[in-house]
Amino acid sequence: MNLPEFHNEPYSDFSAPANREAMEEALSNVRAQFGREYQLRIGSDWIATNDKLNSLNPSNTREVVGIHHRATTELANRAVECAYTYFPAWSRTPAEERVRLLVDAARILRRRKMEFNAWMVYEAGKSWPEAEADVSEAIDFCDYYAREMLRLAGPQKIHQMAGEQDELVYIPLGVGIVIPPWNFPLAILVGMTVASLVTGNTAIIKPSSETPTIAAKFAEVLLEAGFPEGCFTLLTGSGSAVGDVLVQHPKTRFIAFTGSRDVGLRINELAAKTQPGQLWIKRVIAEMGGKDAIVVDADCDLDKAVEGVLVSAFGYQGQKCSACSRAIVDAKVYEPFLDKLAQKAKTIRVGPADDPRNYMGPVISAGARKSILEYIEAGKKEGRLLSGGQAQEGDGYFIAPTIVADVDSKARIFQEEIFGPVLAVTKARDFQHALDLANDSQYGLTGAVFSNDPEHLRQAAEQFHVGNLYLNRKCTGAMVGAHPFGGFNMSGTDSKAGGPDYLMLFLQAKSIARKVS
Ligand code: NAP
Repeated sequence: MNLPEFHNEPYSDFSAPANREAMEEALSNVRAQFGREYQLRIGSDWIATNDKLNSLNPSNTREVVGIHHRATTELANRAVECAYTYFPAWSRTPAEERVRLLVDAARILRRRKMEFNAWMVYEAGKSWPEAEADVSEAIDFCDYYAREMLRLAGPQKIHQMAGEQDELVYIPLGVGIVIPPWNFPLAILVGMTVASLVTGNTAIIKPSSETPTIAAKFAEVLLEAGFPEGCFTLLTGSGSAVGDVLVQHPKTRFIAFTGSRDVGLRINELAAKTQPGQLWIKRVIAEMGGKDAIVVDADCDLDKAVEGVLVSAFGYQGQKCSACSRAIVDAKVYEPFLDKLAQKAKTIRVGPADDPRNYMGPVISAGARKSILEYIEAGKKEGRLLSGGQAQEGDGYFIAPTIVADVDSKARIFQEEIFGPVLAVTKARDFQHALDLANDSQYGLTGAVFSNDPEHLRQAAEQFHVGNLYLNRKCTGAMVGAHPFGGFNMSGTDSKAGGPDYLMLFLQAKSIARKVS
């Protein structure tokens, strides 16, 4: 089987009238499906439970996007047993057949792109371009991992012993638990799921309780592409209720998690404890939080730095693990940087995500809004409020883009992940001091440096301890294939999603030596 070379999915340009109209139409079609009920499915059984979860539109909380049935612990156990039973058949399905199904899933996603964009706008509060980027990344994951699996299913280069025929083959692990966050409700869910499936594992997907409808729609895509019912289960339910059961089950072989530090550490701890009857050491792939910094050097294009910081801090309301939540600025340009930043921040429009004139939509939930506003109050005491600083009127969870200047590196808003539209700005004595401040964090996910000085860029490449470093560009927007993604320290296991090492995490290598003479 030969596939053409991988290319990133191009973004739809919404300034083109045809794309605009297609998106408007998708929004209205999706809106017409609001309030539909989605049952659970284990194998070929569709299951209703009495415990229902209403997924709301964060731009207008009176609107119910979808109604989902929450799994019980009994169903979680049943899902693992079902995945375990089906594993032998799926793991022996030829890799080329699994790849063919995945390429088909990418094709269906591409065909339904505007529809998925619209679900994203309504269930996750993404602006049109942010939704488009999320769906495009999901397509990229399918296309990229399909090609990677072909590579790994082929002959591997190993030394041949005299008189032997030696080979190394990659085989799947077993039952995987896929636990994604809500902030890339399609891309991250798709990435971890298809990596599990294309490598021959069976998977139980426990989607975020904030974005279950997008997950249900992707489950439809997998079935339409021809993935057998037994190879995956979408198990909607509360992470705290069913998460522990899935993670601790003795037949669970690995957990692919993306989410907060605390939940990731809990999963890691629980998975490390061997259960009665368990035959393996569970593997944990955990991608967690960030407290990402952009360093602004004295010698740089200040307008580009301001633009890079704003886009990274306030794109999708700062709810990206890669979002810039700390700007660390050389004292020589600190005041002019703040002036330009405050001016530009004032032009950011906040409001319902389905209105393309709004750059920022709502934050995801009432809980998130409460927590972010508490951080903003703390920030007002920890520095000088430059812009924003409060919730914004409307029927959704809106918060004004907030900038706090003169923040000390020991302040909470400098150290803790807020996951909202809050930017702390800190003054550095010089470039080395700026790098030291940037590294003064338990996290190490993304970072960026704006500088015209080649020696400073070299210094940053060597010292800035982050999994994804960007020079003279924003610190968000990793592209599959070009920027394998994953962080250091408390940002996780550095799995490098969208890179050549990723699928290896879902496989184990078997060496076969055949005596021939
Ligand atoms: P979260 O609260 O940790 O939840 C993530 C997932 O874990 C959800 O599906 C959640 O289910 C589930 N969960 C909760 N408790 C669990 C438990 N005890 N056992 C098993 N699963 C459990 O994170 P989030 O709020 O969805 O996402 C935001 C976080 O993700 C941020 O910290 C962000 O930095 C991080 N993130 C990291 C990356 C990366 O690549 N490093 C990418 C994106 C996001 P429920 O929704 O039902 O609680």
